[in-house]
Amino acid sequence: MITKTEAVVLKSMNYRDSSKIVTFYTRRFGKVKCIAKGARQMKSKFGAGLEPITSVSLVLYKKEHRELHLVSQCDAIKTYKSIHSELERMAVALSVLELVNQLVHEEEGNDALYLLLVGTLDEIEGAKRNFVNLFFAFEIRCASLFGFSPGLGACSVCGRSLDDIGLDGMAVFQLSKGSVLCGRCVASASAPKDDPLRVRKTALEASTRPHSEEGNVRVSIGTLKALQRLLTARLDSVSSLELTSAAGNEIDGTLRLYMRQHFEDLKPIKSLDILKKFSVAKPEIDA
Ligand SMILES: [Zn+2]
Repeated sequence: MITKTEAVVLKSMNYRDSSKIVTFYTRRFGKVKCIAKGARQMKSKFGAGLEPITSVSLVLYKKEHRELHLVSQCDAIKTYKSIHSELERMAVALSVLELVNQLVHEEEGNDALYLLLVGTLDEIEGAKRNFVNLFFAFEIRCASLFGFSPGLGACSVCGRSLDDIGLDGMAVFQLSKGSVLCGRCVASASAPKDDPLRVRKTALEASTRPHSEEGNVRVSIGTLKALQRLLTARLDSVSSLELTSAAGNEIDGTLRLYMRQHFEDLKPIKSLDILKKFSVAKPEIDA
């Protein structure tokens, strides 16, 4: 059947003498893999529409029960000029596309994810600084769309808000539940009644181990607050969040563990390695 949909080009590779195999994330059908015949000929009708990081209007000949469909027409809607001309923006955008490509199965449409993807690319294109924040926001919002929305605003046991715990307080982020435990509740949860002091110490020691068997990570309150903002703030305000490189690293590390906890097959995002070069050079700014 011939069908039309909006899409974002995730990947594109040469195929045989003159064609390309292109992976799209489409609004209607989710991820689809297509062949674009004659795409590399001088007078190709596809133009720039098959380059990764492009929003397109796609007409495809969809074959039932086949993995590879046929691109009939593909017109670029947005080519994201700033992303394509600046390495740091491009690395963030490619990280986003890599994550989508890994997380979704073929031909499972998800309108919310499509809109998040396009909205994130628009922001990466237009943001003035802190582009990597948009990758963090995309990651945590993806987790949320797949049913793993973390509860970050308050301790999940006593209900104290992050503000009440205080910025110098410690907290534990429980990866499997996506919930927060304040230092007080961590200590009292495992303290036996006969020797509170000894076990309080043990509980704190256990919570500082990032890979403890319960899947708990010790994180700063500042990181939890930043994660909360990355999850819930308007997407166009995310790049104005200033993070020190230490804070950025903690957020990155916490998100890596959280995503791996919930998406077991997730492999490291290669495009992130390019980004790390930028974060090393960043000056320390207090959040
Ligand atoms: Zn608590």
